Amino acid sequence: MACGISKADFLEEEATGLEQWLKHGYHGDMKWMENHFDERLDPRKLMPGAKSVISVLLNYFPEETQETGTPKISKYAYGRDYHKVIRGKLKRMLQGIHEQIGEVHGRGFVDSAPVMDRAWARRSGLGWIGKHSLLLSKKSGSFYFIGELIVDLELDADGPSTDHCGSCTACMDACPTQAIVAPTVVDSNKCISYLTIEYKKALPIEFQDKMDQWVYGCDVCQDVCPWNRFAKPTDEPDFTLRESVGKHSWEEWEEITHELWDEIMQGSAIRRTGYEGFKRNLKFAKKPE
Ligand code: SF4
Ligand code: SF4
Repeated sequence: MACGISKADFLEEEATGLEQWLKHGYHGDMKWMENHFDERLDPRKLMPGAKSVISVLLNYFPEETQETGTPKISKYAYGRDYHKVIRGKLKRMLQGIHEQIGEVHGRGFVDSAPVMDRAWARRSGLGWIGKHSLLLSKKSGSFYFIGELIVDLELDADGPSTDHCGSCTACMDACPTQAIVAPTVVDSNKCISYLTIEYKKALPIEFQDKMDQWVYGCDVCQDVCPWNRFAKPTDEPDFTLRESVGKHSWEEWEEITHELWDEIMQGSAIRRTGYEGFKRNLKFAKKPE
């Protein structure tokens, strides 16, 4: 687990980008992104008294990948729901701070509140924002979960990372739906990850022949990134590939009952689509025979 520290401050550099992204409607139906604009840019508004943001990265790059020909599922969803895993780790970290330092007020966040996790991780030197909009590190690529612990404790801040994308545009070129509309800017309305997970209506027909057999998320922009050559397999047992995710064929998933799906998906992030959503994705992404 990597860790970096930033001063809890206003995210001035990110403010315009967030405003423009919302103005263009690139957040699609994720209307909650429009809420808490001020809190999103300033953790002191989210947690009065906040002094420092501790960012943590947890590698999920798997040792083993899915069998070829199975419906594609994003690597981050191979194992146990990361929210639960990271929340537990942040809780233990705060307990450790209490034991070492004394009474410190803090709150842990994993995708759960208006916290711009990538921006904080970048500020604290853990990586830069790649053109695919994800956090990227020279040492280990981008297959990381990010969590934050916001505390009312003044800590020495680390400096921000520098950008090492250079003239590379591999992610932008490889994106099956051209969702990366400018460096670091993803239009969610076109992104397979958003469409298969967050989008709740019938999937827009214009994307049908572009799904490339993805049924939950999409890793294309990360898979082509040269920095991910340095990714090392995670040692977190919770993130190892579940047998069903690794091996189930299109037919097996298509035939699965609601009851069995619920059983298989216990504790998995894939539950977010719901049974019907998963079935919708399967039907939409399946290549015609
Ligand atoms: S996740 Fe897939 S669809 Fe979304 S930006 Fe990356 S390559 Fe494009
Ligand atoms: S593929 Fe190239 S441009 Fe995209 S994030 Fe990786 S290094 Fe940056």
